[in-house]
Amino acid sequence: MKYKRVKGTRDILPDEWLIKDYIEGVVKETAYAFGYREITTPILEDTGLFIHSVGDSSDIVTKEMYTLQDKGGRDLVMIPEGTAGVCRAYLENKMTVWPKPVKLFYLQRLFRYERPQKGRYREFSQFGVECFGSKNPLADAEIISLANTILKNLKFDSLELHINSLGCPTCRKDYREALVTHFSENKQHLCEDCQDRLSKNPLRILDCKVRSCRPYIDDTPKMKDYLCEECKTHFNQVLELLASMDISFVVDDKLVRGLDYYSRTVFEIISKDLGAQGTVLGGGRYDGLIHRELDGPETPSMGFAMGIERITMLLQNKVEELDLRNPNPDIYISNFGGETAMLSLKIAQDLRQNGVKVWVDLESKGMKKVFDLAEKRKASYLLVLGEDELKTGKCSIRRLSDRTDFNVELQKISLFFDKE
Ligand SMILES: [Zn+2]
Ligand SMILES: [Zn+2]
Repeated sequence: MKYKRVKGTRDILPDEWLIKDYIEGVVKETAYAFGYREITTPILEDTGLFIHSVGDSSDIVTKEMYTLQDKGGRDLVMIPEGTAGVCRAYLENKMTVWPKPVKLFYLQRLFRYERPQKGRYREFSQFGVECFGSKNPLADAEIISLANTILKNLKFDSLELHINSLGCPTCRKDYREALVTHFSENKQHLCEDCQDRLSKNPLRILDCKVRSCRPYIDDTPKMKDYLCEECKTHFNQVLELLASMDISFVVDDKLVRGLDYYSRTVFEIISKDLGAQGTVLGGGRYDGLIHRELDGPETPSMGFAMGIERITMLLQNKVEELDLRNPNPDIYISNFGGETAMLSLKIAQDLRQNGVKVWVDLESKGMKKVFDLAEKRKASYLLVLGEDELKTGKCSIRRLSDRTDFNVELQKISLFFDKE
């Protein structure tokens, strides 16, 4: 074969699309129930947008961006995450004057130049929500409830919500200093990335997955001891609201999320379902992003994102429980060419208008083969149109599950399916 897929990309084949379709249906339905509206932003954005929003110390910006220069010499990036583009769109489309909060959701294809590994690709899709313009703890609680409801509606059972507060710029500054003091003592034992993070963004050290770093992370100062009064009150109110909705949670001091723009509430939902433990969804508040990094008005905001591929992979283990679209034809119509072929297309057209799924043989096949083919297509019924049917105006429709034949007038085939 002359051409192959680009490294790290993948093809999504029809069987997987049935699950993706189901997921997209559920997430959209649930998001609309919470008052969210859909938005799509371009795959290409200005590189600067991500350097300013996601932050130039994050892995995404330093290592993983698909950057390119177009013929006009513009520095562009194929978007590595959803939030920055939606924030840009929020400002550019003057949604700032819409009644607050503005609730948006997206289903987006994203690109990250990561080392490909099982279940991780350089092109992937995410569902995400962003809620602009509320600093109320109710917004945090409602968004977490939305995340929780989506996963429940997708039929996940063993979910665990991890939550933390990263404070505001004021109290985080003190915490940051405490971390620098703490880690500086053991700087030489930290991995190379963490040594780098120590000066750029010490909070990210808490997130390090390198084993040799773990012992130095376990006894670090905790953000909750540094929260200012306002941040503390906000966090406690969020927790109280979650409890009032019977959403159980674990306060996780090590939860910092990978991106620089988060403030106050951050959260992740972990699935213990289906034998695969891991984060399925995560997000948080980003009160300063629009104002400080994108020169917009003061806009406290919050959101979360969920990787569609991971959800699809997990749901593949329980497809029987899911309400997937059935792609199989209700009826398979075969013919002997000529006028019978014309008639089969005409009948198929009428049936399809009535919501019946029809597979018409585009080549006339021998009678023997037809039964086989109809069964291979997993059709429920079979109709063979020949000269006799044309002459008499009557036909016999066979139910393939039990090989029962039904005599039906050609004019009334739609009626037959109404009853079935
Ligand atoms: Zn604070
Ligand atoms: Zn490390």
